[in-house]
Amino acid sequence: MAAKGDMLYAWTNDANLAMKAECGGAVTELLKYALESKTVDAVLAVKRGFDLYDAVPVLVTDPKELDQCAGSLHCGTILLSKLVMEYVPKMAGKKLGMVVKGCDLMGLLELSKRNLVNLDNLVMIGVNCGGSVSPVSARKMIKDKFGVDPDKVTKEEIDKGQFIIEYEGGHKGISIDELEEAGYGRRSNCRRCKLKVPRQADLACGNWGVLGDKAGKATFVEVCSEKGAALLTKAVAAKKLTTEPANPKGIEIRAKVEGAMFKLGDKWRKHDFSALAPTLWETIARETGRCMKCYACIDHCPVCVTSPDKFKQPDQMVRAGFIPADPMFHLRRFAHISDSCINCGQCEECCPSEIPLALFSHAIRTEADKFFEPKLGKAQYTN
Ligand SMILES: Cc1cc2nc3c(=O)[nH]c(=O)nc-3n(C[C@H](O)[C@H](O)[C@H](O)COP(=O)(O)OP(=O)(O)OC[C@H]3O[C@@H](n4cnc5c(N)ncnc54)[C@H](O)[C@@H]3O)c2cc1C
Repeated sequence: MAAKGDMLYAWTNDANLAMKAECGGAVTELLKYALESKTVDAVLAVKRGFDLYDAVPVLVTDPKELDQCAGSLHCGTILLSKLVMEYVPKMAGKKLGMVVKGCDLMGLLELSKRNLVNLDNLVMIGVNCGGSVSPVSARKMIKDKFGVDPDKVTKEEIDKGQFIIEYEGGHKGISIDELEEAGYGRRSNCRRCKLKVPRQADLACGNWGVLGDKAGKATFVEVCSEKGAALLTKAVAAKKLTTEPANPKGIEIRAKVEGAMFKLGDKWRKHDFSALAPTLWETIARETGRCMKCYACIDHCPVCVTSPDKFKQPDQMVRAGFIPADPMFHLRRFAHISDSCINCGQCEECCPSEIPLALFSHAIRTEADKFFEPKLGKAQYTN
């Protein structure tokens, strides 16, 4: 019987799923069981789209269809939290299972603070996340640094600090540090992120800390809530999953890797923010001068949701017929989200003018947080 606080290795008893899954297939198996047992009415997950650089969201009600979602798409920069809003009206009173990275989780917490999502109706299976790579830059990186045609790549993974590809004719891995020093690698917001293990989810699943003969074949599961413990216990009792206590050495290694990732996040924050600080406002004015008023930054922001059209009304924030938007439009948007920006990077990722909006927003949020830090203490929930 699993309990909150347990650390386990878990793996699916379904041999076909084990082949498709990233590690032990525990995430997919738990979501399947949640549907089969009617713990949830639907599952919101991610599946491969056009190619392995393309992650698309999928709402699944048939457990068999979940196998198509197995595996990690490290070039999938999708954020699921705001998408939930699309389903909320149709899901009234129903339960939804979800896979959540740290940013998905933080987005859901912000939506719940605004009474737009009821966390009681969600079962959140968290996946640890060291960061994702933007599809466009992944293609360029594979061509330039790996010397491989990105269309010939059949599999990508991130393991032991390396970005690894399999392609027609072989496989190759390059350390993420080396790639990032050369200007490639993870998205800049992911580099600055310090929520690597999503412990506010019901379960936090990952590959860090899986050792010995279980390496690559089991999922490391940290049980984070009573809801997560109940789901895991029932799935094991139904013989869907097998578990065993995590190797103590593995628990230690996982904690060390997480600690190293925090330090790396701090290093990148220092790097990005100190370069920006001396000319923050001039830089914002210059960069936002490319804004074409498409409003993708608002539409994809999981925090800016209270009155979606307010920023777009010509008489409120922007003058109709003028491009770019007045700098005040962006400054007011930054102010509006300055206490809650989760650094998910969606504003930057979806900006057709490639304005580094997430950098500005995260820098402002981090600066604003300093006023409250003595009162916050050492909170786990840190974006
Ligand atoms: C971008 C990314 C980075 C990761 N980095 C780390 C890490 O540094 N350390 C670590 O311990 N673990 C990391 N993980 C988690 C790890 O890769 C596995 O997802 C986890 O161990 C569960 O394995 P599994 O076999 O049980 O999952 P599976 O049964 O294969 O299920 C995987 C689930 O992940 C979902 N998924 C796939 N890609 C995405 C995506 N881009 N966004 C949201 N959901 C997605 C699928 O919908 C599926 O439900 C990362 C995962 C992702 C997606």
